[in-house]
Amino acid sequence: MTSDDNNNSQPKRNQRPRAYGRASGRDSENPAFERSDKPGIRARQAAAKMLAAVVDRKTSLDGMLDAENGNPVYRELNEADRALVRAILNSALRQLPRIEAMIASLLQTPLPEGARALDHVLTVAAAQILYLDIPDHSAVDLAVEQAQIDPRNRRFASLVNAVLRRLSREKQALLETIGENTPAIPGWFHKRLVTYYGAEEAGRIAAALLSPAAIDLTVKSDAAGWAEKLNGRVLPTGSVRLAGFSGAVPGLSGFEDGQWWVQDAAAALPARLFGQLSGKRVIDLCAAPGGKTAQLILAGAEVTALDQSSSRLKRLKSNLARLGLEAGTQEINMADFRTEDLFDAALLDAPCSSTGTIRRHPDVLWTKGPEDIEKLALLEEKLLRHALTLVKPGGQVVFSNCSLDKREGEEVSERILAEGHCERVSIDPSAWPGLEEAVTPLGEFRTTPAMIPPQDGFSGGLDGFYAVVLRRVD
Ligand code: SAM
Repeated sequence: MTSDDNNNSQPKRNQRPRAYGRASGRDSENPAFERSDKPGIRARQAAAKMLAAVVDRKTSLDGMLDAENGNPVYRELNEADRALVRAILNSALRQLPRIEAMIASLLQTPLPEGARALDHVLTVAAAQILYLDIPDHSAVDLAVEQAQIDPRNRRFASLVNAVLRRLSREKQALLETIGENTPAIPGWFHKRLVTYYGAEEAGRIAAALLSPAAIDLTVKSDAAGWAEKLNGRVLPTGSVRLAGFSGAVPGLSGFEDGQWWVQDAAAALPARLFGQLSGKRVIDLCAAPGGKTAQLILAGAEVTALDQSSSRLKRLKSNLARLGLEAGTQEINMADFRTEDLFDAALLDAPCSSTGTIRRHPDVLWTKGPEDIEKLALLEEKLLRHALTLVKPGGQVVFSNCSLDKREGEEVSERILAEGHCERVSIDPSAWPGLEEAVTPLGEFRTTPAMIPPQDGFSGGLDGFYAVVLRRVD
């Protein structure tokens, strides 16, 4: 440690306890705060607030990024600043333990318990310095300014300056010594991955989670033609993967006239597991935003789509309208849905921990925990049991979710199978060329972000998905 940048009286960073009293408040509306007009400050303030909401209050990032109902500081930003906030948060949430460890190494005594807001200011700045292409001096200056205008943090402004300058100077060495040797995912999650996949595969999955996911499209037809038009690649799953695309999807050819929709290649698998659907009545039980509903309709099924969320059902309707597709819809908790007129087949793409989507939603690492997984697994079991009552004897239920945790997937179907009202219909790996590794010995689908290698400039990986086909037997 150099004496000009830090000294022994400086406090060391907290080790992030997980329950932290009150919400940090809305500083833009807090008259105790001075307002700063420094360019870029509002984006950093939004990032720090949203980071606090995720790690301290387990708030999902998606809701805060909503253009209409999201975080008020974020909403007032222009599009470029919003993109910057998303980039900062994605890096900070993907690398949080590493950032924390590197900052902690530059401090000598813990920050006081009340300095949580300062913690987030430091993390936001460190994410820019360590992982983003933003001039270090600008990240440092804005963090110092943030500390100065916040009465809780003003006395730490010189500490912020000293720590971040040193981080900037020593980042290469810190990344190599501390960054690369600190797991990026929380211990509980790593432990579960090791339990379910073994240490080696868990390591590959954890590494794959650090890269952003590609954009995959499900096309109505002519995958090769769309791949050529959109500079994409046709994956073994039949989806079209775009090459490093980062612009606005609605601007792409084929969006407006509904020729394709965005859907991770793994998410497109469950709806294709039914076999022949032409003329069959299918119920999609947790349907919004409708990617799988669209696939079922295109496969020739007459689809009834349920969802308990009115806003998400609205999205499903508008997505289907863009695609020129039609389904019956109903806003209802599927557990309350009853019918005499049983369906030929059902798709239960169940609510889950979403740990398979961490590449797109790194906040999941910090908003979910083992206790959530257990609760969700029990809910999924209950929903699957009910789904089986909605199809005719002999009818198929595809149960899927985007969790990497086998407690929510394989273990749920094992429990339901043990009740004796259904049997597993094995997926034949030879029917899925290029994807054989995703078919388990029991004939179920299990995809992970470590599957599908990068190729010719296209990134690899799949969302973590589980899918099984069950046939009702009585
Ligand atoms: N199948 C969708 C697709 O491919 O676009 C994604 C479904 S998402 C994983 C889960 C959905 O289930 C959410 O839209 C949520 O609102 C809905 N949901 C959760 N619990 C539900 C329940 N008990 N009844 C009906 N819908 C539910």
